[in-house]
Amino acid sequence: MYRLKNAGYKAYLVGGSVRDLLLGLKPKDFDVVTDARPEQIRELFRNCRLIGRRFRLAHIRFGREIIEVSTFRAPHQTVAGEGHTEDGRIVRDNVYGDIDDDVWRRDFTVNALFYNIEDFSLVDYVGGLSDIKAKQLRLIGDPVERYREDPVRMLRAVRFAVKLGFTLHPATEQPITELDHLLQDIPPARLFEEFMKLFMNGCALAAYNQLRRYGLFVHLFPETDQALDKDNSGFMHGLLSNAFKNTDIRLTEDKPVTPGFLVAVLLWIPMVRLAEGYKSNGLSEMDAISLASDTAISRQVKSISMPRRFTQMAREIWNLQTRLKHHHGNRPYRLVSHPRFRAAYDFLLLRKEVGDNVLDLADWWTEFLVKNKIQDTDSIATDRKAPRRRHQRKRNIT
Ligand code: ATP
Ligand code: MG
Repeated sequence: MYRLKNAGYKAYLVGGSVRDLLLGLKPKDFDVVTDARPEQIRELFRNCRLIGRRFRLAHIRFGREIIEVSTFRAPHQTVAGEGHTEDGRIVRDNVYGDIDDDVWRRDFTVNALFYNIEDFSLVDYVGGLSDIKAKQLRLIGDPVERYREDPVRMLRAVRFAVKLGFTLHPATEQPITELDHLLQDIPPARLFEEFMKLFMNGCALAAYNQLRRYGLFVHLFPETDQALDKDNSGFMHGLLSNAFKNTDIRLTEDKPVTPGFLVAVLLWIPMVRLAEGYKSNGLSEMDAISLASDTAISRQVKSISMPRRFTQMAREIWNLQTRLKHHHGNRPYRLVSHPRFRAAYDFLLLRKEVGDNVLDLADWWTEFLVKNKIQDTDSIATDRKAPRRRHQRKRNIT
């Protein structure tokens, strides 16, 4: 910010970092806004990369930290036309302006506070500070219009409410149940980013409950949502709740987590239902699960695209649920050296906890691990490379 200022530009800290600092929270990252154009920013910083098409902005790397630096944006027209789709969604948005243009483009009042390094003042055009004090999340402008411009703001509303313990202002809350369907047009890659922020930030359980409550969950995990609606026993809700709770706890304890494990949990019931169908058509259990895994995953990635390593992990965890059942002879020793063994065992424990018919099996494995002094490493859901882990396991057994 000082480098920008010394070069004659304006520079403000903005967004989540200002909000979090005011709330006494540790900011996850820092966003800076300036009147320098992306190309001008690049001239000032060697460690700078310009990214984005819809929003062109600069990423400046300092060690392991990336500071997002964007240029003030001018208002956009709310009618269909240049840069908008017919339903009002913004697809291109690179018209530059000044701070008093930029502020209206931000989503929530609490995200639209600017900290000015020139005189250490806080610039508040939209009543963000009083909303922070009231612990209230309020969209700037007309909520319906703002959700139509960018439906992902509905997910952001839930995410910030959950993360900050804020309530949604009634006018911000009310349209969500009518506009949720707009999320259907959001590119699956963008929804993946939101999925990560919603579920890998320590508030997964609360996010899940609120997304279900507002009817948004169906747009992220359609098959899971349908299965939840039919879940009279509460088994599936229990499975998801426990997995989210564990994820949240692990994150507060600084233990590693991976979305692959959550994908396995989220799609478990849809996958099992499919596999049952295939089995009744004569496929073996292994083949049925393999085919059902393919089907469940290919349906899911239409909503949220995911890196292959996460879906692959889910496949392996599911496949191992069958293989764990056959534990005679040397098999268990081979199985524990499988790179996904620990995740699969944790998955089995999760199923046991919520009353799936695997009590004896889970206990058998627990006893086996204790008997063979195989340490309970915190390996659930880690993404570590296989060879190292295989080596570790072998050493643990002998
Ligand atoms: P986090 O703690 O998750 O980083 P954040 O508020 O910083 O929260 P970012 O996604 O990093 O969120 O975005 C930075 C800022 O850019 C926001 O605070 C907001 O002012 C603005 N912004 C981001 N996404 C949108 C959006 N979809 N619509 C309007 N403004 C947005
Ligand atoms: Mg941020």
